[in-house]
Amino acid sequence: MNRKISNQFFLNFLLMFVISLMVGIFTLMLLDFADHVISNSLVKNIFTAESLMQDDISKINSSKVIENAGGVQVIDKNYKVVLSEGINTIEKDKLTAAEFTKFLTNSKAKGILYNYSIEYNEKEDFWLIVTFPSSFRIDFAVVSNVEYKTVNFNKVIGVLVAIILFYFLLLALSTFIYSKLASLRIINPLKDLSFSVRSLRDGDYSARVNHNQNNELGNLADTFNEMAQKIEDEMFLRKKAEENRKKLILDISHDLKNPLASIRGYAELCIDQELSLKERADYAKIIYNNSIRANELITGLFEMSKMESSQFKADLTKVDLCEYVREEIGKYISIFDKEGFIYTFDIPKEELFVMLDIKLMDRVFSNLIYNAVKYNNKGTEIFITLKREENNVNLEFQDNGIGIPCESSKRIFEPFVRLDNARNSQTGGSGLGLAITKKIIKEHDGSIDLITDINKGCKFIITLPMI
Ligand code: ADP
Repeated sequence: MNRKISNQFFLNFLLMFVISLMVGIFTLMLLDFADHVISNSLVKNIFTAESLMQDDISKINSSKVIENAGGVQVIDKNYKVVLSEGINTIEKDKLTAAEFTKFLTNSKAKGILYNYSIEYNEKEDFWLIVTFPSSFRIDFAVVSNVEYKTVNFNKVIGVLVAIILFYFLLLALSTFIYSKLASLRIINPLKDLSFSVRSLRDGDYSARVNHNQNNELGNLADTFNEMAQKIEDEMFLRKKAEENRKKLILDISHDLKNPLASIRGYAELCIDQELSLKERADYAKIIYNNSIRANELITGLFEMSKMESSQFKADLTKVDLCEYVREEIGKYISIFDKEGFIYTFDIPKEELFVMLDIKLMDRVFSNLIYNAVKYNNKGTEIFITLKREENNVNLEFQDNGIGIPCESSKRIFEPFVRLDNARNSQTGGSGLGLAITKKIIKEHDGSIDLITDINKGCKFIITLPMI
C-alpha cells in the first residue's frame, strides 16, 4: 500500500506540473494574441513617424500626436533639433554624433518609459522622431535565425539542453520528495487504522486508533472507534445473553428435576409395593402436587419464551387506567377477605388514559396480588394506589409484610430467582412470575421498580406512559 499511494502522489504532482506548464504556455499565447488584437488600436501604432513624414518639415502635422499626449521632434544632419512639439525626451537643442547614436540605441532598449518611432528622410537628410509615453509594457520574445550557422551553434544548443535537463531533474527530485512527504501524512494514520482493523477482525474488540488528526482521516478513525465500541458492547451483551441462556437451561432442568423425580419415585412405589388405601391416597396427592408444580414451571417458561419471540406483540388499546384498576381489584376482594388481609385502595376519580393489553395486565395483577397473599401472613395490609406523575401514571402495589432483602430488589426480576428455600418449599413458586411481569410492563413502554427490605414489606411501582 505504501508504494502505491506515494506513486500515486508522485504521478499527481507530475501531472500538475505538466498542466501548469501548459497553462503557462497558453497564457503567453493569449497575451501575444491580445497584443495583436489591441496593438492596431494603439495611438503609437497609428501615428508613426513613417505616417507623418513629409519632405517639407513645416508640413509635418503633429496635432494628433500632441492631442494624444505625445511629442514630435525633427533632427537635422548636424544633430540639431530643428522642430520640437509636445513632449520632448531629447532635452538638448543640439546633440553630438555620439549622443544621437546613444539616443537611437536607447530608443529600442527594453524597460524604457517611452515608445519611439523614428524615420529618416533620405531626400532632405533629417530624422523624424515621434514619442509616446508607455502605459505598461511586457517585453518578451524568443528569436531564432536560420542564417545563424556558426561553430557556436552546437555549444549554445548543448548548454540549452543541459539547462532544460537539469531543470527537469531538479523538478522530478523535488516532486518525488514532496510527494513522499505528503503521502507519509496519509500513510502513517492509514497504517495505524489498518492495524486496528486487523486486530478487530482477529477478535480483539478493544482495538482503537489513537490519533490527533482533525481531517477526513481523523473522522475515519473516529468512526472506526465508534464502530469498534459498538461491536465491543454488542459482543459483551451477546456473551451475557449466552451465559443467561446457559443459566436458564440449568435452572429449568434443576427445577424440573425435583418434581419429576418425586413423581417417578412415588409412582414406582405405587406400582411395586402393596400399599394401604391411605398410603396410596397420600402418594397420589404427592404425585398430583408435583405434577402441578412441573406444569406451573412449564407454563411459565412457555409464557416467557412466547414473549421473547420476535413475533410477539402486545395488543394495545386505549384504556382508562383508573376504571380498569377499579374493576380488576374488585376480582380480588373475596380472596383478601378469605385469606384475612386488610386492604386499602386509592384510585383517583379522573380519567387517566394509557395504552393497555388487558390480558397481559390481568397477568401482572394476578402475579403481584397472589405473591402478596402467598408470601405474607394473615393480617398483612395491602395498599393499591394510582397516581398521576406529569405524563406518566404510577400504579403501586404495597404490603407491610415480610419483605425481600433490599440487595435482591433488582435481581428478583430475573427468571428463577426466588428467596430462601424454606419459604418456597411451602409456597412452591417457579421464580418466573416477576420476570414475566417485568417483560409485560416493558411491552407497555413502562418500568417496574421494587422498594423493599426484610420485614418492611414490598412496594412495587409500575410506571406507564399516558396518552
Ligand atoms: P414465584 O412467586 O413463582 O416464586 P416470583 O418471580 O413471582 O416467583 O417471585 C420471586 C420471589 O420474590 C418469590 O419467590 C418470593 O420469595 C419473593 N416475593 C415476591 N413477592 C413478594 C411479596 N409481596 N412479599 C414477599 N416476598 C415476595
